[in-house]
Amino acid sequence: MEVEKGTYLKKWKDKYPIALVYPNTYAVGMSSLGFQLVYAILNERSDSVCERFFLPEGDEPFLSLESGRPLTDFSLIFFSVSFEHDYLNLVRILLLSGIEPFAKSRIANHESSPIVGFGGVATFMNPEPIAPFADFMVIGEAEPIVDTFLDFIMQYRQDLGHDELLFQAARDFEGIYVPELYSPEYDANGRCKATHASVSELPARIQRISHLTCEKAGHSELLSPAAEFANLYLTELGRGCSRGCRFCAAGFIYRPPRLWDADAVIQGLSEKGSDVRRIGLLGMEMANNNALDEISAYLLESGCALSFSSLRADRINDKLLQLLSQSELKSIAIAPDGTSERLRSVINKGLTQEDLIKGARRLVEAGIYKLKLYVMVGLPTETCEDLQEFIDLIHIIKEQIDPIGKERGRLTEILVSVNCFVPKPWTPFQYHPFGISKSLAEGETYPTQKSLIQLKEKIMFLKKGIKQFANVQFQTDKPDNAMFQALLSRGDRRIADVLYDMARYNTPWKKSMNNHNLSPEMFILCGSTIDTYFPWYIIDHGMKHSYLWEEYHKGIKAAPTEPCDPSICKRCGVCGEI
Ligand code: SF4
Repeated sequence: MEVEKGTYLKKWKDKYPIALVYPNTYAVGMSSLGFQLVYAILNERSDSVCERFFLPEGDEPFLSLESGRPLTDFSLIFFSVSFEHDYLNLVRILLLSGIEPFAKSRIANHESSPIVGFGGVATFMNPEPIAPFADFMVIGEAEPIVDTFLDFIMQYRQDLGHDELLFQAARDFEGIYVPELYSPEYDANGRCKATHASVSELPARIQRISHLTCEKAGHSELLSPAAEFANLYLTELGRGCSRGCRFCAAGFIYRPPRLWDADAVIQGLSEKGSDVRRIGLLGMEMANNNALDEISAYLLESGCALSFSSLRADRINDKLLQLLSQSELKSIAIAPDGTSERLRSVINKGLTQEDLIKGARRLVEAGIYKLKLYVMVGLPTETCEDLQEFIDLIHIIKEQIDPIGKERGRLTEILVSVNCFVPKPWTPFQYHPFGISKSLAEGETYPTQKSLIQLKEKIMFLKKGIKQFANVQFQTDKPDNAMFQALLSRGDRRIADVLYDMARYNTPWKKSMNNHNLSPEMFILCGSTIDTYFPWYIIDHGMKHSYLWEEYHKGIKAAPTEPCDPSICKRCGVCGEI
């Protein structure tokens, strides 16, 4: 903490103590802009003190970073949850702190124990797998609600008591979900078929909150050399993405896409401190060239370099290359995502073979020594021809970039990273099974082992094809792990029992699923239709199910969908009805 910039060290006297927990390590948590924004909002208030907790490493004690207090000293504990793979850490942290993980088990000590809340992007994609652990959840972007909700808790906690406080919050605040007040209903096959509010005064579905206007773009509040993005000052160009890639949950749950104006971005950048030299801009995919011109002129004037982690291959223009050459970056990623041009139409990525070849060549010409290429296997309609096309693409890219490398005395290395596709909630591919190319009919299931074998075969095919090239590395995730991630993404409340057993008794996930009479087929390997009820439908994103269903079928036919434009479009429902 001594080397951080932006830390709040506040006295506790007469202040409401809030623990902000990131259920992963310091390096990972400190790279989350959402986590940092909430930390700043809570500490800018004079009546509260917010301290951070991260997953301890090695024998580290689990204490707050700022004052070294245990989690149980805080009145409100708020978990910022960005990724499903942190769910297990979340349960472990509660156990480690002596706090009953299940909200209903905390009832006996309600009046004396802390209130436990969750927020973050994973909770507004699908809150259900971790819902039983939360007293409340903030569904959506936190900024518009944090202050008023905290005022309410601080004012009424003593008078109303725990249960009435949460009931009134769920009834009166848009975006506040109290899982205990809702119960799921299952059909004869064990699939969730509805979620019911316990009383009619509660909303039937939880409206997701959006931060729609912005005078000053969100930016890093803390800088640390020990963060994953060490000392990188992040600033948002906007939120969401207009591209509509059919596999990407963020592209759908952050709708409508919002681009902050250049003034708001420069306002955000202006708070960086005079000694900050590295800037990361979030939302480059959407930014228009005029805004980029204005922002890059500002950065040049202040002597800053822009840092990119990845770029869209069809956006690598002269302006970006100029910014890149100032950045001294040597490694960059482009994400074809689909292995063939046809598959990139299926997923609506819209990148041609030519875009990728030209993009790679221009990056290498600009001095990049390591080029990462991200693709997925297990996409809808995928065949061996698609995989072969990717192997051929690597061959062509090498033919183009190796002579450039030879001339300057150092070849550019390629890293191919292959991940198993996970059909995420709120995307058109939510209707597609995990790991297999074909769609399934309503109620039809597919054996878990067979889907894992198919994924492994596809990965081996790519690995073998790519091994023939010198200077190309290959990395992949394990289909088993991806399957577990799919379960965490798409599960319902019964997954909480699995997580608890894993955290408490170290039970492997498959055994734990078995112990609870659950199977992967129920959640990720069975056919769905437009009428299927998914556990995540407890949230209302304003998205029409018919739109997602149509997009799924357009995807299967490899038909493109234009990027969305909130000034003229009403098609998905988020920007209002036609
Ligand atoms: S209604 Fe149109 S512009 Fe608005 S989020 Fe949906 S697709 Fe995008």
